[in-house]
Amino acid sequence: MSTHPSALIVHAHPEPASFTAAQARVAQESLEAQGYTVEFVDLYAQHWAPVLDRTEFPPFEGYFKPQQEQWDAVREGTLAADVRADLDAVIRADLLVLSFPLWWFSLPAILKGWMDRVFAMGSVWGGDAGIFENATLAGRRAVLLATTGGSAESFSKEGAYGHIDDFLFHINRGMLEFVGYDALRPIITHAPARADDVQREQALRDVRQAFGTLDARPLAATSRTLAH
Ligand SMILES: Cc1cc2nc3c(=O)[nH]c(=O)nc-3n(C[C@H](O)[C@H](O)[C@H](O)COP(=O)(O)OP(=O)(O)OC[C@H]3O[C@@H](n4cnc5c(N)ncnc54)[C@H](O)[C@@H]3O)c2cc1C
Repeated sequence: MSTHPSALIVHAHPEPASFTAAQARVAQESLEAQGYTVEFVDLYAQHWAPVLDRTEFPPFEGYFKPQQEQWDAVREGTLAADVRADLDAVIRADLLVLSFPLWWFSLPAILKGWMDRVFAMGSVWGGDAGIFENATLAGRRAVLLATTGGSAESFSKEGAYGHIDDFLFHINRGMLEFVGYDALRPIITHAPARADDVQREQALRDVRQAFGTLDARPLAATSRTLAH
């Protein structure tokens, strides 16, 4: 990592006063205090358009093959302006932080759509870029910063839902590691809505502490880490 590291926080919560948003601000403060240059993309505030369809590509007749269109648009410099801007931000950043509440055991649709459009084939993965260790972003780090409705106990192996790592696997392995990132162990506050103010303040201190010690943070539990 350079002496002046940079981070991109992509935040997806519709309420600016949410606990999830407070976590994202704490992450930004902590990173800036360490000397990071931080870019912050607030998807709801920007009314980010999450649907990948043919209208974002130059007009053409016939069969629409999304990955082929992405590939061509990357090569021909015709990516949509919003995609190009955030793709450039991704490429600038040493660290990517995805900030979101767990919705249906996954990402809110707006953030999933950001992935669909910004992680375009032929840019951060695929073709010359390769996948996993050969992908464009190899050597960079990414971390999930999330909240849940369910308690930590309910997201344990014996809990009602099952282990949180299983639900986050498709993001860590299928999205972040796929494009080359080292995915760090997620930073999660469970059930902030059922906590009291003291517990929430402590949770924010825990988030600050986690971002202050990223260099010591283990990798997420994925097949890559299991294989090593
Ligand atoms: C469509 C949908 C699907 C969902 N699916 C799931 C699921 O699959 N699994 C699951 O577990 N949950 C699920 N949930 C629940 C969701 O994950 C939680 O509601 C969410 O993560 C809680 O975080 P929040 O930021 O929205 O909390 P909020 O309700 O915004 O915040 C909790 C409390 O913290 C307070 N707060 C805000 N800022 C601060 C601060 N700086 N300091 C102290 N307190 C503060 C707020 O005022 C509020 O009282 C789902 C929710 C939706 C809408």
